[in-house]
Amino acid sequence: MPSRELTPAQARDALLPETPASFAPSTVDEQQQLGALVDTLVTNARTDRELEDAPARARALGFHVEAWQVGDQRFWALLEAPEARRGAGAYVVRVGPATTGAEIVLQAPHTFYDLGTGDIAARLFFSSSAGAHVRALFVNTAHRYGGPRQAPPPGEHSDSDLCHITDHVFQDATRAAAEAVGATIVVQLHGFSDAPELPEAILSSGQREASSPLVHALSRELEPVLGKVRRYPEDIAKLGATTNTQGKLLAGYPDARFVHIELSAGTRDRLRDSDELMADFGEIALADRDLDGERIEHAPDADADVPRGAGAGEGAAPAPER
Ligand SMILES: [Zn+2]
Repeated sequence: MPSRELTPAQARDALLPETPASFAPSTVDEQQQLGALVDTLVTNARTDRELEDAPARARALGFHVEAWQVGDQRFWALLEAPEARRGAGAYVVRVGPATTGAEIVLQAPHTFYDLGTGDIAARLFFSSSAGAHVRALFVNTAHRYGGPRQAPPPGEHSDSDLCHITDHVFQDATRAAAEAVGATIVVQLHGFSDAPELPEAILSSGQREASSPLVHALSRELEPVLGKVRRYPEDIAKLGATTNTQGKLLAGYPDARFVHIELSAGTRDRLRDSDELMADFGEIALADRDLDGERIEHAPDADADVPRGAGAGEGAAPAPER
């Protein structure tokens, strides 16, 4: 298995293809086997096990697995083999012990259409400030309107729009991650074109009837950072993602939550132009929370406040001579 040491920017470039793959559907068997592979990656990453035969299984499916070291963090990336690109997606898992609260699966499924969402997701995910609970990042590798059978954009149906079809690896990977993790928050990033009547961001749980305590918490915290933030359906009747296939899937899992975040073009530009704004956005969107959006307070690191040499315990460093 190839092993690479990357900067966050190099990891982002390695994950996001510059050009979309020409889309060819995977068979049901391939979808299931790749879903099982994502299950292995997520499960083994959380339980300190090695990958065993996962690289060989990936190769048999036209994928490959790479181990990435980015700063002090480890990742496993499941990527389409260069000669077998066909829009089956790209899946990266953070390697580290299971955390106590909900774990986050970040998704950018329309990176060539909702411009900037892949870059934003990758910058948040590979940032040194992303917590251990931010488990995985899934992105598309073909254009939303890149399949052979489709209505012209912004048409209703496209066989490469993996948010509106169920027979895609992305759906199996989402299911596998939710089942492997248990308490899971799937945060999906999208983008819309600016319009005077539209806000900076629209958050939804994908449900027509009401959003969720998690969406309420995120919206409340994001508004001072992004500007006008609206919740579907409480504040606005548009862009609620009620036909999103990952949202529908996750609604069937009592321990999973779906958060659909739509960002205006201006907001996406501002985020990418300002490291500070990006960090503030990430600190909220990917915060360690329970399934209802309550933040999980972390006890300060037990060693952090003890001056070196001050402790009497075993292993304490000797006080420096002055
Ligand atoms: Zn979208």
